[in-house]
Amino acid sequence: MTVVHCARCGVALPAAPPSVCGACGYQVYVNARPTSGVIILSGDGDGAEFLALLRAREPKRGLWELPGGFCDGWELPAESAVRECREELGADITLGALVGMYLGSYEFQDETFPVLDCIYLATLPAGAAITLDPAEAVELTWFPIAAPPAMAFGTMDRALADARKLLAR
Ligand SMILES: [Zn+2]
Repeated sequence: MTVVHCARCGVALPAAPPSVCGACGYQVYVNARPTSGVIILSGDGDGAEFLALLRAREPKRGLWELPGGFCDGWELPAESAVRECREELGADITLGALVGMYLGSYEFQDETFPVLDCIYLATLPAGAAITLDPAEAVELTWFPIAAPPAMAFGTMDRALADARKLLAR
């Protein structure tokens, strides 16, 4: 087990969180960090396509993902979804329904921690010009929602399957 240190005084914790620091009494919890993800649709029903980005950086570099990212501070997931698309695509999406919230894990800075991915449907305005942020994505493709590729994160695979069911109604 990786030893976890108290965020307040730096002493090694007696047990994996949730636990209490033996030196200073600080209570340490691990909670899922919220993120946003967006299934941007083109077309209707089972024939719809969704926008996927090829990740430019680790983790999961070179795999397909949905646009999105971590919620900043007190930012709502819906606000994060719009902001992340503006940053990653250079376009303002029209946010649709929440597809679901999915518990996953994320590796960053040699840590693996839980994330709660809040995934929405969205559309782009007609004729919207997309400009990728090369630090985030090296390629953009539209895939049929009926036949998505394996995505970088399992939460996205599950959300796409649920979105397909929503669209079939
Ligand atoms: Zn402590």
